[in-house]
Amino acid sequence: MIINVLTLFPEMIDNIAKESIMGKGIENGYLSLNAVNIRDYTTDVHKKVDDYTYGGGAGMLIQAQPVYDCYKAVNGDAKPRTIYVTPQGRPFTQNMAIELSKEDELTIICGHYEGIDERVLEEVVTDYISIGDYVLTGGELAAMVIIDAVSRFVPGVLGNDESAMTESFYRNLLEYPQYSRPYEWNGKHVPEVLTGGNAKEISAWRLNESIKRTKERRPDLYEKYIASQEIISRLKKKKRDNYYMIESLNRGKSEVLYCDDYVVLLEDSNHECYYIWLDDMAVDLQNDAAIEAALSNVTELLDTNRLLVVQTKKVADYLCGLLHITIAMESHLYTYTQKDYKHINGYDIRMLGLEYFDEIFQMYDEESECNLRHMLSTGKVYGIFVENELAGFCGEHLDGCTGPLIIKEKYRKQGLGYVLERYMLNVYKEKDEIMYCYVKTGNLASEALQSKLGLYSSDKLIYWLGRYEF
Ligand code: SAM
Repeated sequence: MIINVLTLFPEMIDNIAKESIMGKGIENGYLSLNAVNIRDYTTDVHKKVDDYTYGGGAGMLIQAQPVYDCYKAVNGDAKPRTIYVTPQGRPFTQNMAIELSKEDELTIICGHYEGIDERVLEEVVTDYISIGDYVLTGGELAAMVIIDAVSRFVPGVLGNDESAMTESFYRNLLEYPQYSRPYEWNGKHVPEVLTGGNAKEISAWRLNESIKRTKERRPDLYEKYIASQEIISRLKKKKRDNYYMIESLNRGKSEVLYCDDYVVLLEDSNHECYYIWLDDMAVDLQNDAAIEAALSNVTELLDTNRLLVVQTKKVADYLCGLLHITIAMESHLYTYTQKDYKHINGYDIRMLGLEYFDEIFQMYDEESECNLRHMLSTGKVYGIFVENELAGFCGEHLDGCTGPLIIKEKYRKQGLGYVLERYMLNVYKEKDEIMYCYVKTGNLASEALQSKLGLYSSDKLIYWLGRYEF
């Protein structure tokens, strides 16, 4: 990922960027940070970049010309996502960090003095972001806060990338308290449960502590957590149809955007999709007028450049007509809820890292490069090897569903797909998650495999709606 920072103080950016994880990310080539001095682009003979504000008022303003020329020198005719850090922006969050980490290139503009002439901002800025409700002297520290949080999600930057997904804000909960050696310090012991080695008890204790801490320190987040728990309870009434949403909420991938007695709208901003669920105990899903009424508060909240995931053809058709989008995929949902997690021994299965990117991309180029890198760098892809050669792999898509499962041509019909997916069941079990996958209607081979493995099919079909087919 390339990040350009336009600033009056490039040395501030360079100094911080040298350190720690960010510095390593740059050194290892996962991140490229380019701090550019706006002053180098002023046409003023005295190298001035600021002037008084029209209409009077205290302080000076950075003029449009040097900012625009600096922006053009860095980006040419390209128009990458361009952030102006400002106290007037959207408050920066972990979800925004995840979303920004998927860009190949970002430009961040730092203001100073009273800020920057509005006209150049209108010309180049795509996002206005604030790091909090206070006023800093300049945008450099804000830019570095954003870069630090974003770079943690750039594939390869964190050694153990998985940890970015388990820290505070995951599932709207703050992280639980943690302890290191010695066991006793200043008369205080490490909580007993953490030394007992019982993984189930440890994770129950941690969840409980997370909830307690969030309630005390961040009641606003706690409310969101409770809201999502209530929705999970509603969805659980028809688990088999709804596991993709239950898991998405449970794993902290989506947030509740709207809910009432008839409808729930969830947003997964990382995967750029919405889940719309109509409660069939409250809405007659065969009746167009009932569907229209139930969806009336939801449709205006949707960005139709994103995918919509809905159940039943009637609902899909209604939304396609209304929003001028099409059905991109019709699928069954398959879920594993059984207790049998028997391992099949004697196979060489390994978690794959980024070093397998080229090989995996050759076998499967339907996922965007960026998503595939994310999957690999967060330990979401497992490969099955035969005599040390990668024979196939199975991954987890960004939204949390299992897939794709690909076996190289010459290794097919040997049951390797079955063995690998069976292995994946155990990977999910270890994480206390339910494995689910979508199978495109008509893919009988995959349906047969899922049934053989003991996955259940949903009663309702799931529809993916959008501007393109896949
Ligand atoms: N006059 C501006 C206003 O009231 O919105 C504040 C200007 S501030 C003194 C100078 C620069 O610091 C801003 O242009 C912005 O780039 C940066 N800045 C200050 N506070 C910030 C915050 N909370 N988040 C992000 N950037 C901030």
